[in-house]
Amino acid sequence: MHHAHQLLDTLGVSAAHLQGGSLGVRSPIDGARLANLSPTPVAAVADRVGGSHAAFLAWRQVPAPRRGELVRLLGEELRRHKAELGRLVSIEAGKIASEGEGEVQEMIDICDFAVGLSRQLHGLTIASERPGHRMMEQWHPLGVVGVITAFNFPVAVWAWNAALALVCGDPVIWKPSEKTPLTALATQALFERALQRYGPDAPPALSQVLLGGAELGQALADDRRVALVSATGSTAMGRALGPRVAARFGRCLLELGGNNAIIVAPSADLELAVRGIVFGAYGTAGQRCTTTRRLLVHDSIYPELVTRLDRVRAGLQVGNPLESTTLVGPLIDQAAFDRMQQALARARDEGGHVTGGERVLAEQHPEAWYVRPALVEMPRQSPLVREETFAPILYVMRYHRFEEALALQNDVPHGLSSAIFTNDLREAERFLSAAGSDCGIANVNIGTSGAEIGGAFGGDKDSGGGRESGSDAWRAYMRRVTNTVNYSGALPLAQGVKFDV
Ligand code: NAD
Repeated sequence: MHHAHQLLDTLGVSAAHLQGGSLGVRSPIDGARLANLSPTPVAAVADRVGGSHAAFLAWRQVPAPRRGELVRLLGEELRRHKAELGRLVSIEAGKIASEGEGEVQEMIDICDFAVGLSRQLHGLTIASERPGHRMMEQWHPLGVVGVITAFNFPVAVWAWNAALALVCGDPVIWKPSEKTPLTALATQALFERALQRYGPDAPPALSQVLLGGAELGQALADDRRVALVSATGSTAMGRALGPRVAARFGRCLLELGGNNAIIVAPSADLELAVRGIVFGAYGTAGQRCTTTRRLLVHDSIYPELVTRLDRVRAGLQVGNPLESTTLVGPLIDQAAFDRMQQALARARDEGGHVTGGERVLAEQHPEAWYVRPALVEMPRQSPLVREETFAPILYVMRYHRFEEALALQNDVPHGLSSAIFTNDLREAERFLSAAGSDCGIANVNIGTSGAEIGGAFGGDKDSGGGRESGSDAWRAYMRRVTNTVNYSGALPLAQGVKFDV
């Protein structure tokens, strides 16, 4: 029904690879089995990393603008196959069609960004304190980059990492979520087309895919030849992975969970706020790291905002994400549904008033997990509210004073994304100031999710501290070298130290 195999064939993944293995892949749209893939044995990881490392030794010597050419070709392949890959994202991850295609657009955008960057990997020249000396810094390729990704952005997160890593001179070795390996295989096939068109000076193992679960991610974490492990997923994953990489002084870039809030101030444009909140809380069925999970609403507008929100919430079309009128697709699996129901039961126990959240379309799709998005009015920011539940649940709370809203916004373990709706300039600036939101992303009059690639993306605290994508995030993929060159005939020491021999 989804034509997944046809799509995979068009994208360059042969049907021969799709059956006979033990890694079952299902579509969250209807629970249908899409493939049984052969997982990568853990024992094979060392060899695969060896291949990546050999590729590194060659690729680091290719001039960066020439490396950019490969990423330009990758961007072309993605443009050409945006519709097919986008649809496959919808089939495998359950995103609505425009978000599936949007994810591929994000890959194209980061490729364009990286191509420009390939001529701008600038270091500094630094004034030396010694006569006849020059100081500078250079940025050199770092090494193999291990990329571990989550199910909910099955391809864009790879592209954020791979496009930058490749222009920076680093091969990538990708461990996609075990829930979304097909989109990974399709992306790899498109990459291989770009590689073929690029010509002979690209080593073959510049990008590789490992299929399977956490054990493969652990093997990457433990391999000293993997210079950077860039991992996206839950905070629990980051907590397990980070120390393993740190134990060998490897570099980690962690993009973990979020528990993102929007503050709605008395002066807010409520029409704008409702649209921003609904997309943030219920778009992608609440399965984005930047999903709006908490709403802090000023007393004076609380009843009106909650009424308006609830009306829109109740009318959202939930269903097959491939249908053009659907706005909310399925949860990824039954475990996600169970966790959502447990959270709602706890919310009731903690005095919350729950609207929605029930399963829908169960008769039509007994093996898929569709829910009506939930709005939960909470008397306070309880321990439950301070946790990330990866589902469309929006907890709504009141506040009286701005300081109180800011304190509540920051009083959670995560620090990924945040927003305020206000037309009060002072409030907006205080929210963005050093004493304001403690998140890596802080927005005004726009929701918490749907970031552009031009900025650095990531958060602090339990969100992991990593920054990827735009701005100067490329620096994580390179090593900095400081050079001092003496072109005088003397050998003066720094800080005036004397050492006459
Ligand atoms: P997950 O943590 O279950 O899995 C993510 C990836 O990590 C998978 O590839 C998995 O196989 C691997 N993994 C899990 N445990 C591991 C371990 N101990 N060692 C090595 N690898 C391990 O997450 P998920 O359910 O796929 O995704 C949802 C989570 O990801 C949410 O918490 C969400 O907020 C987060 N997320 C964060 C970002 C971001 O950029 N900050 C983006 C998307 C998703």
